Amino acid sequence: MTEVDLLFFGAHPDDIELGCGGTIVKAVKDGLRVGMVDLTRGEMGTRGTPQTRKREAAASARILGASFREQLDFSDGALRTGRDEELQIIDIVRRTRPKIVFAMYPDDRHPDHTRTGRIVTEASFYAGLRALETGVEAHRPHTTVYYVQNYMVPPSFVVDCTKTWKTKMRAIAAFKSQFHDPKSKEPLTFISDPKFLTMIEARGVHFGALIGSEYGEAFVTKQPPRVDDVIAAYGGREV
Ligand SMILES: [Zn+2]
Repeated sequence: MTEVDLLFFGAHPDDIELGCGGTIVKAVKDGLRVGMVDLTRGEMGTRGTPQTRKREAAASARILGASFREQLDFSDGALRTGRDEELQIIDIVRRTRPKIVFAMYPDDRHPDHTRTGRIVTEASFYAGLRALETGVEAHRPHTTVYYVQNYMVPPSFVVDCTKTWKTKMRAIAAFKSQFHDPKSKEPLTFISDPKFLTMIEARGVHFGALIGSEYGEAFVTKQPPRVDDVIAAYGGREV
């Protein structure tokens, strides 16, 4: 692990790329350093094994251009959110000193996603408490930003991913065991149905249309982002 500008957390390997792969590629192109952390190994997945998913996750992180990808073991399908887990996240935030932390929206179809949103938000705040001594200097990010997964939540802002969408989809395709593969003999799941990737594509088009661009990824924040140029923020759109 190294210091980064943006730090992304997901519950399962592939959550981060589905929600914000295009934003990561854009950030890396803009010269920002990005780190990725999966809170579980994805061992409850119907298809693939934790070993195949670990290899796929590493390949995807290389495609996205992340500086590192860490995998924790908080238990897939029963994600633990105790003090021990909180301290592991606090340690990562303090060591990597991100300006912004990205987490899953803390209310989603999969309870692991909900728990991820909650524990990452809380640990990112606690990481800034100087009196909490862990042997690593305290650090508090500016804020935690949530990416949208299954439930539809009105976005606080949308990142234009027109130029990075293809790379995002290539990173998702690195998870061969999880998504549509006509040669696979494993059972069909919600996400390995070819319609799932069509939905991801359609959602990217929908979010892009909201900001007058081809593709976009949507984010939700509890505090509004500051806008320095209102005209630029709404450029490319008509009422
Ligand atoms: Zn997930």
